[in-house]
Amino acid sequence: MTLYASRIAALGTENAFRVGDDIARVTPQLAARGIDVIRLNIGEPDFDSAPHINDAGCAAIHAGKTHYTDPQGILPLRTAIAAHVKRTRGIAVDPAQVIVTTGGKPSIGFTMQAYVNPGDEVIYPSPGFPIYESWVTYVGAKAVPLPLREDRNFIFTTEDLAERISTKTKVIILCSPSNPTGGVFDKGELEQLAKLIRRRCGPEVRIYSDEIYEDIIFDGHTHHSIASEEGMAERTIIASGHSKGFAMTGWRLGWAVLPTVDEAQVFKQLTINTVSCVPPFIQEAGRVALESPLSPPVVKNMVTAFQDRRDKVVAAFNRIPGIQCQSPKGAFYLFPNVGGLSRRFGLIDDEGRATPTAERFGTPARALQAFLLERYGVATMDRHSFGRIGADGQHFLRVSIAASLERLLEATERIARAAKDNDGFAEFVQAYAASARV
Ligand code: PMP
Repeated sequence: MTLYASRIAALGTENAFRVGDDIARVTPQLAARGIDVIRLNIGEPDFDSAPHINDAGCAAIHAGKTHYTDPQGILPLRTAIAAHVKRTRGIAVDPAQVIVTTGGKPSIGFTMQAYVNPGDEVIYPSPGFPIYESWVTYVGAKAVPLPLREDRNFIFTTEDLAERISTKTKVIILCSPSNPTGGVFDKGELEQLAKLIRRRCGPEVRIYSDEIYEDIIFDGHTHHSIASEEGMAERTIIASGHSKGFAMTGWRLGWAVLPTVDEAQVFKQLTINTVSCVPPFIQEAGRVALESPLSPPVVKNMVTAFQDRRDKVVAAFNRIPGIQCQSPKGAFYLFPNVGGLSRRFGLIDDEGRATPTAERFGTPARALQAFLLERYGVATMDRHSFGRIGADGQHFLRVSIAASLERLLEATERIARAAKDNDGFAEFVQAYAASARV
């Protein structure tokens, strides 16, 4: 008999949390050389939750809202979410279709548990939020990654999706704006995808539309949901939450709208079986975030800051030989292509294959990630942190722009110096090989 159940081996993780251990390990060594770590691995706004939201949470605690509450979510918050969805997506939602969750994440696992049997196929974007692939493999489904290509602005086309839909497809995951690429679907593209899904998928196939970055869209564009397309509200789980738009990551507050009340009851039952409910004072603050007239200017201020940083930091990356960086349309990440640099550092051979040096680290981008952190004090995330299946041959880093412009520009200066440091890289590889970490 083994200690762990076999399914545990199929569970993935989110490296953004793991990189924290690496940072802790190297911080003293870097500090001894006068270098502090610039954390561009972080997936959360560098803004705090707004005072009016904080006050609402504290007031609710003082008012005694400190007990168990409706596992589906308090009705005033579910009503506010339904109104928000109506306003932003034009869909009439009954609060009974809404479930309140501990952050945006639980709905991913709930969806896999509620709808997917072993052997079913789940299509998900890759690169994508790593928890998708983690849950897909955990429930014994077949993972069908849908590549987001740099030359198509990091979105996929109807042809890409059509090639992957089969009679076994059970769930299709979409994420717009995207983590990690910042790609955003416009209304026309969603219309085409919806048309394909209506034609090719039965009514029992579910679309999981991760819209957690709905508020963080640049250049005056607005968010569109596939659920707003004809016949799609009946098939789509809209998942979002307060973590990103309201900078409330630590509050752990998210929500989903289910196609039917019945399905919302299944999500409620999963909540009862896990966390019982989201704390009521958190929900009260979340209701205020959605309803207060003080919120929109706060959100706008943050999005403007992200957009300004995006413009300056993308330009800085594109001045570094061996790095090309597209300008994301939303979220707060850049996804620079580091293929040229990987080649220059001998991590990719002439046929485009990872060299033995790169393989010591795992992948070329992982080697660069380690070098940038350990020698230059810049924490980033490699491509394979966003879905491993089918990711070989893709050389990218994810850089969060949730840091001050000053720190971001300092980071790009350090990366520019690192990119010229062939000798330093060779020495780093040798030291790495000599250490117990290989
Ligand atoms: N979906 C995506 C695409 C995300 O990037 C994140 C957070 N990084 C989540 C879901 C989960 O959000 P939360 O922290 O609210 O659980």
